[in-house]
Amino acid sequence: MLTGIRPTKLMHQMKRAGLSKEEIAEELHTVYAVSREKIALLERIVERQLSVIPDLYQLDQGVSIYIGIPFCPTKCAYCTFPAYAINEKDGSVERFLDGLHYEMEETGKWLKDHNIPVTTVYYGGGTPTSITADQMDALYAHMIDVFPNVNSLRELTVEAGRPDTITLDKLKVLKKYKIDRISINPQSFTDETLQAIGRHHSVEETVEKFKLAKAYGLGNINMDLIIGLPNEGVAEMENTLKETKKLGPESLTVHTLSFKRASDMTKNKEKYKVAGREEIGQMMKMTSGWMEEHNYAPYYLYRQKNILGNLENVGYALPARESLYNIIIMEECQTIIGLGCGASSKFVESGTGVITRHANPKNPRAYNERYKEYTHDKIKRLEALFQASPLVKQ
Ligand code: SF4
Repeated sequence: MLTGIRPTKLMHQMKRAGLSKEEIAEELHTVYAVSREKIALLERIVERQLSVIPDLYQLDQGVSIYIGIPFCPTKCAYCTFPAYAINEKDGSVERFLDGLHYEMEETGKWLKDHNIPVTTVYYGGGTPTSITADQMDALYAHMIDVFPNVNSLRELTVEAGRPDTITLDKLKVLKKYKIDRISINPQSFTDETLQAIGRHHSVEETVEKFKLAKAYGLGNINMDLIIGLPNEGVAEMENTLKETKKLGPESLTVHTLSFKRASDMTKNKEKYKVAGREEIGQMMKMTSGWMEEHNYAPYYLYRQKNILGNLENVGYALPARESLYNIIIMEECQTIIGLGCGASSKFVESGTGVITRHANPKNPRAYNERYKEYTHDKIKRLEALFQASPLVKQ
């Protein structure tokens, strides 16, 4: 029943409305038909979130910033993110970066002028490490110049998702700018699966780049895993968990495969053989048991349409290694300004929690043509949103 609804957000809303733990559990069970087992999971996640961000309900006076870099080395079969092959000419990378620098500068200036603090910054995409080390260096240097309070951000994340984009030079840049948290995403530890989904990197490369990042002092690494990838069953999942254990990332996001409408996988469904509902359930159970055993606790959860086994995606972390940005975006408790390609902004009205959205174009060519207009649209929306805020300089 809770498809397209954030179950943890629902629980937070009930909590904020003053309902007791028992009343919330009863309502979730009787009105929304949530099983007792899943209610216990939601309670755990909500408690964990509030211990990591005790001021979660007061964050609406600040903002977080998402920066979308829309390039990847190749496109994965299940992907619907704005991810354009970096070597093809779908709008030049340099022109895109010029537009992004402009958006950062204008937005940062507005935030500084209005005394609005930034809580977290998250570079996603695409793959933010698919640009060159020099381009990354220039981008982060510019961020420090133009954003307010960069030195007191609570968290700065860069998704280095595809191991095939990670180089020594880029790791040095990440370290130089004190990036707190990166993601290196294996998705699976079976080479045949990686080939079948078009990842174009090997298991060996994931391991090698992970170790390299650790050796360079990047001490908070997240890994994404996917349950139910083509031709994978319990045995492959067991192998993935066994290999994950050897690396010991600080956090893990476990997705269950979803057939998104625009992905290559959905368009060519007959080419991809996936496990049945029962086996998916077994894999999920095995994974959550493994997390428990290895001290990873669940700290955010969301559900998607057309997800295998009608299950959920869950973020797990070792103590104090949770991603604050992930909590903020899931619980929709703060405005997130999206800059760059395919970046969506969510404007959260203080007090009412009413949300309005704005989306930058997904295609770099369209972005390159109209980024100024999109920047100013967002600034107007910010003006309207923060007009009544006591933080705004009059
Ligand atoms: S690396 Fe991520 S963003 Fe890039 S194509 Fe694959 S799934 Fe999409």
